[in-house]
Formats: sequence, structure tokens, C-alpha cells
Amino acid sequence: METSLDPQAEGGEEQREILLRPQLLKDFQGQENLKENLSVFLRAARERQEALDHVFVSGPPGLGKTTLAGILANELGVDFKVTAAPALDKPKDIAGILTTLTERSVFFIDEIHRLKPAIEEMLYIAMEDGELDWVIGQGPSARTVRIPLPPFTLVGATTKPGRVSSPLFSRFGIHLRIDFYSDAELIEILLRSATILGIGLEPEAASLLAQSSRGTPRVANRLLRRMRDFAQVAGKDLVTVSVVEAALKRLEIDRFGLERQDRAILESIIRNYDGGPVGAETLAISVGEGIDGLEDFYEPYLIQRGFLMRTPRGRMATGLAYRHLGLEAQWKEKPSEDQGILF
Ligand code: ADP
Repeated sequence: METSLDPQAEGGEEQREILLRPQLLKDFQGQENLKENLSVFLRAARERQEALDHVFVSGPPGLGKTTLAGILANELGVDFKVTAAPALDKPKDIAGILTTLTERSVFFIDEIHRLKPAIEEMLYIAMEDGELDWVIGQGPSARTVRIPLPPFTLVGATTKPGRVSSPLFSRFGIHLRIDFYSDAELIEILLRSATILGIGLEPEAASLLAQSSRGTPRVANRLLRRMRDFAQVAGKDLVTVSVVEAALKRLEIDRFGLERQDRAILESIIRNYDGGPVGAETLAISVGEGIDGLEDFYEPYLIQRGFLMRTPRGRMATGLAYRHLGLEAQWKEKPSEDQGILF
């Protein structure tokens, strides 16, 4: 794969991410249980010389879903095709990919919850019968031909597993969920990335960065690149604790890894909506965030760290959120059903 090291190049940041992407299961840090299971399935498929069963993988953004799909292809020694559901607008878009798949290849579809119904129907037949239904002509003279496809593995990824239809979900034989990474796992990821990027990184600095990476490898790698910028401008060739502390302050990232927008979300719930509950759409508008960004990126981490609760009536700030923002004075007695985690 071609990679660019020129930060000015179009998509420079994306190219750098590709550079850091582990290629084999042994380089994929953490997620031990998931890796153990996968290595059994991979070995069995290889021994039988069959395509791996279709894989469904869910989890918040930046936790390694795309990386994992690429690793499956590498471990199996097969071709890898990547697309995302929003790019599959017309039947010809998916047909164009399916008909070029090679034997046992891995076909990755990101954001699989966003597939259009007509495309999803085509996928059912491709996944189950290994065929493509293709309509030729229009009107009364239209007819369907069935085109045989080579055996392949579909890897469907989503940040919203609840939005995937059950007929689609049930056609995946392997279901994986990627969870947030521990600080120890993020330290390993940071040290590996630092080596690849040629950055000196002190162990304590790695630990501090890990704590500020919201359990997410993509965030960890992004922060590491920013640390390198700060170190370089300060005339240092090593990322030290003091570099990290100063840089995090400049980036407005606090000791829980919360960014300015995280705090704006919590503050808006507390100040504008009395601590909640408030509907996700209203909340998104009040902080100028897209609903997907709010639900996929910000909320999962805020919930995991105990700052936010999702209730049937909307989002609520917890006692921890009030305390973290220094807004204890705003705390009001609420009916018990709305009570969050108290002080
Ligand atoms: P997703 O598809 O879930 O949004 P990606 O697979 O694009 O996430 O991962 C983002 C980046 O994080 C990758 O480029 C890779 O460098 C890094 N990464 C993700 N998971 C791991 C892991 N388990 N070990 C090491 N690096 C990882």
C-alpha cells in the first residue's frame, strides 16, 4: 500500500493512520478474548481451505474494526476490499464489487447499519447462496439472472448494532464486539506507534497519554502525533511528561481524557436542562454537534466513565459530571427515577 509521509499531502492524517495500522493479529493489542476466538476460526478456515464465515463487528469509532478486517485478510492470505454503506447507493455499486471478488477474499463494509433496503436484499443472497441477483432490462421485458460468486467473507462493521436489521444480523456467523482499551493496552499501542514514527516516548509520558486517550487507539495515535509537534517546536527529541502535561493543557484535554466538547455536552445538560433528561437531538443542537457524532463518539465514553446516563426519557448528567465541572451548586433534588450517580 502506498503511504505518504508528507503532512501537507491530501489526507495526510489518514495516510499516517494507515502507516500505524497493525497488519497481523500478533500486532493487534488488547482484546485478548476476541483474538483467541478469532485465531481458532482463522485456523479452522485455513485448514478446511474454506472462506471464513461472515463476521459482524461492532464498537465505537477508532477501536480497530477496519484494522481487524484487514488483519483477517492478511492472516488468510486473501484479497481485501473496503467500502462503506453510504457509498453503496445503487444496485450496480454493490454488484460492481461483488463480481470482482476473488476466491475467499474479505469484503469489508463499514457503517453496515446504513445499507439501503434494496442493497441489503442483494447482500442476503450473496451471503447465503453465493449468488448475485441481477435484473436485466426494464418493465415487462425485465428478467433476473443469477450470477455465481466465489466464496467470500463479508465483514460488516457498525457503531450502532441496534440499528442493524435482524435478517442481516442473523446472516453473520461470527459476532464480535470491540470494547474500550485499558490504559496498559493503550501504552503498548503508543510505544509501538512511537517506534514506527521514530518518536522518543518516555514510559511515564506514555502512561499519561494513555489515560487521556478515551480508551481509543485512534485517539492515542492522534495525540501522539500532536505530542511530537509540541516536542519538536520546543526543540526536544523526546516526548516527556512535561511535554505531555503542557500539550494536553493547550489541547484542553483534562485528566479523564475529556475534550472541550465533552465538557460542553455535560455543561449544557446541567445548565440548560437542569441535569436532564434531555433528548439526544435537542442536546446535539445545543452544542452544535451532529447526532451521529454525539451518539457514536462522545456519549459512549462519557457513559463508560460514569459522567452521563442514557435513560428512556433522555440523557442525564451524573453527580460525577457536576463534581468534575465544579457545578455542585447546580445539583437539585430530583425525583428518584431521574436520580443519577450521587456524590
Ligand atoms: P474503526 O474502524 O473501529 O473506526 P480503525 O480500525 O480505523 O478503527 O483503527 C484506528 C487506528 O487505531 C488504526 O489505524 C490503528 O493504527 C489503531 N488501532 C486500532 N486498534 C488497534 C489495536 N488493537 N492495536 C494497535 N493499533 C490499533
